[in-house]
Amino acid sequence: MISYILSIIVVFVSSVVNGFPDRFIKEKQEQENHYPYKLYKREEWGALPAVGVVPLNTPVPYVVIHHTYIPAACNTTEMCKSSMKSMQNYHNSLGWGDIGYNFCIGSEAGVYEGRGWENKGIHAGRANGVSVGICLIGDWRTELPPQSQLEATKALIKTGIKEGYIRPDYKLVGHKQVMATECPGGALYQLISTWDHFVPEFVEMKH
Ligand SMILES: [Zn+2]
Repeated sequence: MISYILSIIVVFVSSVVNGFPDRFIKEKQEQENHYPYKLYKREEWGALPAVGVVPLNTPVPYVVIHHTYIPAACNTTEMCKSSMKSMQNYHNSLGWGDIGYNFCIGSEAGVYEGRGWENKGIHAGRANGVSVGICLIGDWRTELPPQSQLEATKALIKTGIKEGYIRPDYKLVGHKQVMATECPGGALYQLISTWDHFVPEFVEMKH
């Protein structure tokens, strides 16, 4: 009888030690998704389903940086979520089928999934098919985004490389290098032109 009870205890203890904690830890890690920033997936900001998006050929050789100009900078998750929704509504009204950017970043350093890594964006004309478009929400013509927003941008690019969506030897450009626009704003443009991987010219290439 005692050995029977003991064997039940052994089975129970080993299942706790080998079974539950692993699963628990895995679920917890998946929730926190390992990223050095808080990622808000589409369903978390209330995105409407995308219509007619096409796959992006990855890894891409370019990263294109944008600002929004409008909406203005958002400093809370709620504000940023509502900025995402208003941009999606606007881009849908242009017939784009979804928010144009692949990702957007708020001033609270949250990363908001737009079209994501696997879908071609509509953000920079001829660069759409060869780039990931990252938008720093706000008007950065004269002011710079807060440091944490800039750090989240760099960390997102690192994730893209690590996960095989951005080429390790990628080239970084601002929107205005591809099209006639002020985007990503003079102050932000000047700053990114000092970042690693920045190139002074966008050169169209077969990809
Ligand atoms: Zn832009």
